[in-house]
Amino acid sequence: MQYFSTNRRSPAATFREAVVQGQPDDKGLYFPAAIPRLDGTFCDRLGEMSNAEIAFEVIQPYIGSEIDDARLREICEETVNFDFPLVQLNENISVLELFHGPTLAFKDVGARFMSRCLGYFSKGQGEKTVVVVATSGDTGGAVAAGFHGVEGVDVVILYPKGRVSRIQELQLTTFGGNVITLEVQGSFDDCQTLAKAALADSDLRSKVSLTSANSINVARWLPQQFYYFFAHKQWAGEVPIVCVPSGNFGNLASGALANVSGLPVSKFIAACNANDVVPRFLNTEKYEPLPAIPTLSNAMDVGSPSNFVRILELFQHDFPQMAQKIAAATISDEETRNIIQYVYEQCNYILDPHGAVGYASLERYLEKHDGKGYLLATAHPIKFDVVAEILGFEPESPGSVRELADKQKQSVEIDNDYGAVRDIILSRI
Ligand SMILES: *Cc1c(COP(=O)(O)O)cnc(C)c1O
Repeated sequence: MQYFSTNRRSPAATFREAVVQGQPDDKGLYFPAAIPRLDGTFCDRLGEMSNAEIAFEVIQPYIGSEIDDARLREICEETVNFDFPLVQLNENISVLELFHGPTLAFKDVGARFMSRCLGYFSKGQGEKTVVVVATSGDTGGAVAAGFHGVEGVDVVILYPKGRVSRIQELQLTTFGGNVITLEVQGSFDDCQTLAKAALADSDLRSKVSLTSANSINVARWLPQQFYYFFAHKQWAGEVPIVCVPSGNFGNLASGALANVSGLPVSKFIAACNANDVVPRFLNTEKYEPLPAIPTLSNAMDVGSPSNFVRILELFQHDFPQMAQKIAAATISDEETRNIIQYVYEQCNYILDPHGAVGYASLERYLEKHDGKGYLLATAHPIKFDVVAEILGFEPESPGSVRELADKQKQSVEIDNDYGAVRDIILSRI
């Protein structure tokens, strides 16, 4: 498969080149030259297939012979070897739980897949690859867990000191080995600026093979299609409405891609917090990025969603067609709190703040339209301290969280200073 840049000024790339490079030089995003169509019976046969088989069938056309089929099957098995249950909450609303992976958020899927692809491609290269990534919480944990122990690859994670939750910090800092965690005296934006400075440092890049593991990498984006098919396997009845809590819009873009390939979805709902650039766009056709506003669902605090261009590309920039397929909602922090309380009381179910934005958006849509649907529960409620504050008790911890408490935090505290980041990267080669 060839991948072109959405800015159309960089040359096309193979899957391997797109994964290793991350982003084309013209600052567009890689996008598949042709979208594979699944055969007409694929979605009827999901029940006969394991999740790993489904994943392989979905992803194989995007990779072709660049990873041999036997290894690709193993990568798929390792990527999806945990549960993806679809849980019904009431007559019309179900929830697809994407938080049973090692770091309790959906980003585990993309991170596990990408780390294994990068490991495959760097094998036998003799040269180490260093992945640099900034995180506001969830991404870093998923990347750390996904890449830990992958041979030939080191990961350098930058996170803002004091601004991630307790569990997120443990998930980031307790691996050691090839995972190096930098605790930066600064904000998430500062971390991102430092990571970008490293990736743009041509002198550094001449010494070490550097890449990023953020959500624009095709090896994180493409495998996120998998769980939409796993949901469909468990779905009975009319074609569902699918509600996606969104920040950078990678997840929704993956669902829309699956839909173009043949997955039945009647409507997507882009569930947003106060960062409403996409809901405003769908109402006005004007796209106006803004600085991010902090909210309770902080993994969705994005003012300029990087993956949105992929959604435009999927609809070939046809606004009416897109507005017909995607609805959007904006949910305030107050509504988010109320929904967490309400869903607990009504359904005896604990949502995290991101899932709560999804629930509120889907419910609001169903007040005016017929149908049934599911929302993506993108993270486990235990990851967000505010949930216990709202409910007045701590949600039950999964075993993986209890184990974290016994582990030793290993991080390097640095000032908001690029020189320090550069020195640490150079010390890894
Ligand atoms: C990253 C993240 C999101 C947003 O996903 P995008 O693909 O960036 O839209 C939503 N919820 C949680 C918990 C996340 O970690």
